[in-house]
This record gives sequence, C-alpha cells and structure tokens, in this order.
Amino acid sequence: MATGTRQATLPFISPPRHLPPEGHVPELQRALLSWFAEHMRPLPWRRRYAPYEVWISEMMLQQTQMERGVAYFERWMERFPDLSVLAAAEEDEVLKMWEGLGYYNRARNVLAAARLVVSRHGGVFPSGIEDIRALPGIGPYTAAAIASIAFGAPVPCIDANVERVLSRIFDIDTPLRQSPGAERVKELASAVLPKDRAREHNQAMMELGALVCRKSPQCSGCPVADFCVARHLGVAADRPVALPKTPRTPIVIATGVLRQGDAVYVQRREEGDVWGGLWEFPGGVLEPGETPEDGLVREYREETGFTVSITRKGGVIVHAYTTYRVTMHWFVVHLPVQGTPPPPSLTAASEWRWATLEELQSLPLPSPHRKLADSLFGVSGAGS
Ligand code: SF4
Repeated sequence: MATGTRQATLPFISPPRHLPPEGHVPELQRALLSWFAEHMRPLPWRRRYAPYEVWISEMMLQQTQMERGVAYFERWMERFPDLSVLAAAEEDEVLKMWEGLGYYNRARNVLAAARLVVSRHGGVFPSGIEDIRALPGIGPYTAAAIASIAFGAPVPCIDANVERVLSRIFDIDTPLRQSPGAERVKELASAVLPKDRAREHNQAMMELGALVCRKSPQCSGCPVADFCVARHLGVAADRPVALPKTPRTPIVIATGVLRQGDAVYVQRREEGDVWGGLWEFPGGVLEPGETPEDGLVREYREETGFTVSITRKGGVIVHAYTTYRVTMHWFVVHLPVQGTPPPPSLTAASEWRWATLEELQSLPLPSPHRKLADSLFGVSGAGS
C-alpha cells in the first residue's frame, strides 16, 4: 500500500496557523467560497441553475471531460430545450444526441426519467432528494448534486474531485474505496458543508479538485493551502491512497461491411446490454483460437443467416472504455449471389436496413462502429 513517506515540514511552507483543519472549519469554508466566487468557470448550467439543466449536465459529465460535456450540453439544449420536449422525443434521436458520450444506458435512463417526471410529477422536476433518487439512472452522488446545486438542499456531494481534496486537506491515509476511508470521507464532507451555502460549496469543492487540487496538485495557487495537512506533511501527491488497479479486459471482435450500391447493411442491436438499441455492422467477439476472418464469417451467419465471403481486410480499430479495451478487425465482405440479397434472418437484432451515408450519419452507433463508418466514408480521419 503506497501511503507515502511523511516528511518534516519544509522551510518554505508557512507555519500551520490553520492546522488541524477540524479546528478551523468556518475559515476553510470562507476561503473556499471566496475563491469559487472569483474563479468558477462560466458553465452554461450555472447561468440560472434550472433543475433540468443541472440534471442533464450531471448525467453528461459522468466519465466525460468538461469541454466535451459542455459541447454536448449546448447541442442537447438546442434540440431538447425543456423536459417536456425531451419526454416526447423518440429514443433513436435521444441516443443519436448522446452518441460519442458512451454509456448509452444513461441516455435511455434520461429519457425514461423525463417521461416519469411528466407522468408522476406533472412535468416539474422534483426537489426532494428521495424523489430525485427514485428517478431512473440517478445514484446517490447525482441525487445530492441535483438537490444541492439546483435546489440548495444542505447535502454534501462526493465525487472523485471531492474525495481527492478531502483526502489531502485531512490527510486520509487509507484507501477511499473501502472502510474506514469511505466513512471518513462522508463524515468530513458533511462536517465542512455550510448548510446555507450548499450550492456554492459543493461546486467549489469539485471545482477546486478539477482546477487546482488535481492529480498533480497546484498547491501554490490553492485557497485552502493553509488548512491542508497533506501539503504540510509533504504527502499530497500520495493522497488519495489508491487500491491496486485492475487492468482493462481486452475484447477482440470482427466486423464486416456489406455494400449494395451506395448503401451498407446495418442492424439494430437488441436491448439488454450496453450497446442495446444502437445500430451496428454485423459481427461479434472471436471465440478462443479463432481467426478474425473465421470469426467474422461465423458471426455473420449466426446473426443474419448470410454466408459472406471476404473481399478485403479494411483495418483495425481500437477503442478503450473504462474497464475494457475493444480491438475491432473490420472487413469488406460480399454475398456470392446475383442481384438484391434476400432479407436476413435476425437473431441478435430487432431491425435491419440498407443505409446510405446520410442515413448512417443520423443513426446512433457505438463508438468503434462510428469510427468505422467515418473511416469508410472518409468523414473524419478515424480509423483503420
Ligand atoms: S494545498 Fe495542495 S494538496 Fe492541499 S488542497 Fe490545496 S492543492 Fe490540494
């Protein structure tokens, strides 16, 4: 366990006049809030803190960089400016607007939650944390974020940024993903929360973690440096204490592009997994010892009933997710039949179609298939 080595106080660090931080909570809160008032980023959902906008921003920003999240948020608000417009939308269009953010269950949950708010709450986003938590796709962090940021509820928000900041200010020297570190973070997050300023305080903690108390901490510009035990002890870079990392699981798949004139064959995946409801080129995971070519022909036959022949290899696309890494071998294939191919016999899809370039651009595709489509049609430099 890498807990770091405690060092003697360095000579350039100011005397610990605000240590231990437990004895200086009001000063710490003031320092943090005044820094936030001056340095907060002008994010679009901070203009008016509308519950719908706060909710969408929180859903989009999970596992997404801020700049990218803002671009998606702006585009989303143009198409779905309020909850009733979203609730009336088709799932296909919602998935398309989400395309590229990944974790498509979040998009499905957003649509289901919008419809539930309309049917259960008359279209008004609920303000009670229990009602918010009861909506699809909303866990404890998101419920606390919406309740405090949109409605000012006096509840702490604990995300990875907040964990990092607290683990350093209070020098938590055990991993935060298990006892007793997890309980300590919760205790401290509540202890430092000014109940009447939850909206600003929670955002300030997250903003501090995002901008200053980053993985590599920028202590010289930190508004709470005088309160920070880990900085004082010279162990900030060793906090939070990490659990050993689990490596990403490699997944190798083969995919085939079957053309007919200007169109390509695509099918809509059945619901039930993370790519459920999205459109894709047929193919799948290779079996042990199988070559990509053999796996592709087998998968094509199993999924569509087509016995395809390989025209040429297109390339390899690699896409990394949080817990797994997809390597996709793709091929151009043809059917050894004259004229229009017969309809497929679907076993893994709910719909199929011959899609032109324009149609393909408007369909929701998983990221590796989108890279393939872009590469195929030269829309971007992605790919092969
Ligand atoms: S002083 Fe450094 S380690 Fe401590 S909270 Fe500030 S940036 Fe983080």
